Formats: sequence, structure tokens, C-alpha cells
Amino acid sequence: MTADPRDAAIGVSCPVVAVPRFGALEPHSSGQRMLLARNGLFVQIKTPWLDCTTRVAEVGMHLPYGAAAEAITFAFGVVPLGLLERFIAAARRTMPNEAAGALVYDARSGALRLATHEAIEVGPGHVRYRIEELAADELVAIDLHSHGRLGAFWSGEDDRDDQGVRVCGVFGNLDRERPTGRFRLALNGLFRELPHPWAVEPDGALPAQERRLDAERRGAEDASALPREDKQGGSNAPLIVHGGPLQSGHRRRACRWRARRG
Ligand SMILES: [Zn+2]
Repeated sequence: MTADPRDAAIGVSCPVVAVPRFGALEPHSSGQRMLLARNGLFVQIKTPWLDCTTRVAEVGMHLPYGAAAEAITFAFGVVPLGLLERFIAAARRTMPNEAAGALVYDARSGALRLATHEAIEVGPGHVRYRIEELAADELVAIDLHSHGRLGAFWSGEDDRDDQGVRVCGVFGNLDRERPTGRFRLALNGLFRELPHPWAVEPDGALPAQERRLDAERRGAEDASALPREDKQGGSNAPLIVHGGPLQSGHRRRACRWRARRG
């Protein structure tokens, strides 16, 4: 550790912990920390609504440390499908333009509510919007936007926009009876695809408690199986743990769908 107080501050906001091989790992209280384990480099992020441990990288050598396991837990349990249906209904009314909204987590009650963002400037491929003021105990947990009649996918602009820590959801093909949708967890520049809320269980709930994704397990065995998005995890990503720029104010989202076609 250097004597520079800025390095000390970084060490506090994002410490690196070697996973013990014989003893117990000290529980993670809040914020972000990195775990160096015999089976890779992991990130642990804990916010009022999220508790997750996920592997960031392979370590291509034998290390004397203990192993870490992946887990993603949401404090709200499952995403209420009714809130998503309400967002889709609102997004259908703005077709062919995009729409933006959020599911806001109340840290006191543990409940989610839908906030539909007021569009300032909008078209079929972008939306600039105003985010309402949130109460002191409220946090944006799930960022939602729509692609109108286009499909659900992550555009390059989406990748640039989806900073900080949040779940991101996009809906497309809103002219169909059953729109398409994709969800992912954004962790300071690292993206983890989540199950489609309608594809998981008959009631459409997103199982979250202690869920370990099959894809994640595959990734633990073979680095080449990691999704492409992993490689976009930038070391210079801001260490915003509670959603940062989405708390309030203005935001712009542009979805250049041609960039991701094919
Ligand atoms: Zn988009």
C-alpha cells in the first residue's frame, strides 16, 4: 500500500481479499470487493437490493487460496411481472418511439414500484428523458426501456449507458401480442445475462433467491464460455455502487439497432 491517501481511499471502496483456504471468509457487509480465489478472480457487490458474487476472470496458475462460488440474490425476491406488464403497456402507447422507465426499490419496505420516465426528446431509435426525484430510501434497481417494433437486444449505446450497478431490461417487438425481452445485471462495466422473466417459470417470475445461473457454472469451467460482454468490463469503470447517474436528473439513451444486427 502506498502512502498516498487516494490509494487508501480506493483500497477502502474496493478492497482485494484473498479467499482463505482453511478458515472462513469474512462476510461482505456492503459495497464492492474483489475476491482472489483458486478458481478465479471474483467480484462481490452488496447493495440494499442486491447481493452477488460473480467470476470476473480466470487465473491461469495454481494459487494456494480457497475457492469462491457464484450467487446472485435480490432483496425483492422476484421481479413482479405485473410491473413489467404495466411498463410494456405504457411503452406500447409511445410506439413507434422508445420509452424508458425503472423499477424503484424502497429500502424500508423492500417493495418495487414502477416509475415511467417523462420523455424530453424521443424517436424510434433513442429517448432522452427526465427522471423523477426519488425519496431518501429509494434506489433504482431495474432500468427499463423499449425498442418499439424492433427486437430486444443490447445496442452499443445500451452498453455505454448501462453503467453502475443495476438490472437492465429491454423490450422489443411491442406490436406483437407477446413482446421480446432481455434482462441483464450490470456490475460496473461487467454484464451478466439474466433469464427472461417469461421464460423461467409458468407464472413468469424471475427466480432470484440464491439463483446460480447455468451459464455461470459453465463459465466457471471454461473461460471461453464466458459471454462476450465479459470482455467489455473496463478497469476504468466508475465504482458507482448504488446506481449513480440514474438517481435523478436527465439521461439519454440511444439504441442504434443496426450496429447489433446479425
Ligand atoms: Zn436499447
